[in-house]
Amino acid sequence: MGYIKTSGIVIKEVNTGEADKIITVLTRGMGKVTCYAKSARRPKSNLIAGAQLLCYSDYVLFKGREMYSINSCDVIESFYEIRNDIVRLTYAAHLVDLINDVMQENQPSFKVLQLFLNTLHMLAKTDKSPELLTRIFELRLLSILGYAPYVRGCMNCGKEELQGMSFSYKKCGFLCEHCIIQDEFAYELSTAAAMAMNHIVHARLQDLFSFNVSENVLGELEKLLRRYLRDRLEKDYTKLDFLKMIK
Ligand SMILES: [Zn+2]
Repeated sequence: MGYIKTSGIVIKEVNTGEADKIITVLTRGMGKVTCYAKSARRPKSNLIAGAQLLCYSDYVLFKGREMYSINSCDVIESFYEIRNDIVRLTYAAHLVDLINDVMQENQPSFKVLQLFLNTLHMLAKTDKSPELLTRIFELRLLSILGYAPYVRGCMNCGKEELQGMSFSYKKCGFLCEHCIIQDEFAYELSTAAAMAMNHIVHARLQDLFSFNVSENVLGELEKLLRRYLRDRLEKDYTKLDFLKMIK
């Protein structure tokens, strides 16, 4: 009981009362935590920054009867570059949707938090294609959650060269040109797309973002991951369609 110290990032904010907020924080060790941020909308509040969407902070929380309340917070990174750019913000909103859907309270969350912070850092501070960053995040997130597809080679015969692979949604992995008869609906991939997927699932975190792909390959990954997300999470994520309208 009493006070708890934790760091985390705000993944949802809802205004309540006259000047308060209820925020959801993805924390290092406690999964998603819902917190009351009293007076966080008052201009002089010391919670004004730390109770904003995408703000990463050290928090001191007080465990109340119904929910935690924020006693104090110390902003570590506000990702203001994302908030000031409609395109980056839309991509970040999609990532936030995914996190809100897949994470629960009291679920170990360190790896997801780490992936999320790294992706936001790349989105905010570099020129790396937001589309590619999003695809990396999506596939790696599903992998962390236990939905990693088999992408080291053909899942049927074990062929390791990533040439001529197709992705089987049904079997959740690659099939080579000989084994594709096992799933006539498998999606044929370029070698570069197959290699990108293998990298995203298996690379060490520090190497995760260090590759690039062509526009065509990005298109393949988008098509594949949209369906894969829909199959695994039973929801169609449409927020990014907005960007196609303003392109
Ligand atoms: Zn095969």
